[in-house]
Amino acid sequence: MNAEYDYIVVGQGLAGTCLTHALHMAGKQVLVFDDPAAPSSSRVAKGLFNPVTGRNMVLTWRAQQLFPYLMDFYRSLEKMLGTTFLHEMPLYRPFLSQQQQNDWTGRLNDQRYAMFIDRIYLEPLRDELINNPLGGVMLKGAGYVDTKELLKSYGTYLQEQGCLVSERFLPDQINFEQEKVVYKGYRAGKVIFCDGPAGAANKWLAAIKWRPVKGEVLEVETEADLDFIVNKKVFLMPRGNRFFAGSNYTWQDQTWQPTREAREEISGHLQQLLKVPFTIVDQQAGIRPTVHDRRPVLGILPHQPQIAVFSGLGTKGVSLAPYFAAQLADHLEKGAKIDREADIGRFFN
Ligand SMILES: Cc1cc2nc3c(=O)[nH]c(=O)nc-3n(C[C@H](O)[C@H](O)[C@H](O)COP(=O)(O)OP(=O)(O)OC[C@H]3O[C@@H](n4cnc5c(N)ncnc54)[C@H](O)[C@@H]3O)c2cc1C
Repeated sequence: MNAEYDYIVVGQGLAGTCLTHALHMAGKQVLVFDDPAAPSSSRVAKGLFNPVTGRNMVLTWRAQQLFPYLMDFYRSLEKMLGTTFLHEMPLYRPFLSQQQQNDWTGRLNDQRYAMFIDRIYLEPLRDELINNPLGGVMLKGAGYVDTKELLKSYGTYLQEQGCLVSERFLPDQINFEQEKVVYKGYRAGKVIFCDGPAGAANKWLAAIKWRPVKGEVLEVETEADLDFIVNKKVFLMPRGNRFFAGSNYTWQDQTWQPTREAREEISGHLQQLLKVPFTIVDQQAGIRPTVHDRRPVLGILPHQPQIAVFSGLGTKGVSLAPYFAAQLADHLEKGAKIDREADIGRFFN
């Protein structure tokens, strides 16, 4: 006799955690497989969420939908788990040119931007610490999620509910029986792969145009006393009495090992940003699950309706995961439409 579930979710990173929570909220029975020996991008991430990204300092894709949603989602999860992992923190972006300063002054009247602007500085802020001769914009609606705390406390919750299997799921061993999947002693309506960067080697997800991106972060000590995040080429994030700085982007090297090149690149940017000395005390590396068009990937495989995927969170897992997990849960349960740009269907046209 097989134990019966609505869904088997493979992977308990940000994608698997947010999706499992969304499915639980819809009253579904979910069994989660997570391989404790596999590397996890979510455990390396420092959890930044930032509505204004890139060198051009423009609103990130779908910011107006994602940002209000993520606050409610993580707060409700915190309440359910009785823990704290969502930390709202202002984020300062120094202007890189006079043009940027002018553009941002105009954006105070643009409703899309105004919801994220705390204050525009036309003069340097904390001039003794930060190199920002043209001032900058202090953003609200930003901060970080302590991803380690989120994954640990949600993993404990799943364990207590008896729905976490801490072992490697073998995609080759799925059997299909009368619109169900059977895997070892478990039967479910669907298997949903939330296996992060491992998805690039998963035979069921071979149609996806993967482009995994390696990234690294430094932990630094400095006497700078900041109560906001600074983002100029790299981010500098205060976390208690420590700081994290990152990240970089590499496509060639696909190992999880820290490198001297990344250390030099990130610390070089930090030297340009900070006017006070700093010491590097730790360094971590990981692979981001990214696809060629840098959009999430979600939905049911067109040729195999018992298999679905939630991945492609790339550099922005913290802000993308809540909204798109809810969208996928609605799609699976109510047939709701998936955002065209995020739909797995784009790889089968
Ligand atoms: C250096 C760095 C810094 C980053 N900083 C940020 C940031 O500040 N903000 C942000 O939003 N994003 C950041 N990211 C990106 C973020 O980490 C990813 O978008 C996100 O974590 C992806 O989550 P995921 O659940 O898809 O993948 P993962 O977190 O990798 O989770 C996949 C899970 O699947 C499990 N798994 C895989 N295969 C199997 C199998 N066969 N059986 C069972 N389990 C399996 C793994 O054990 C793992 O737990 C950063 C990434 C890196 C590398």
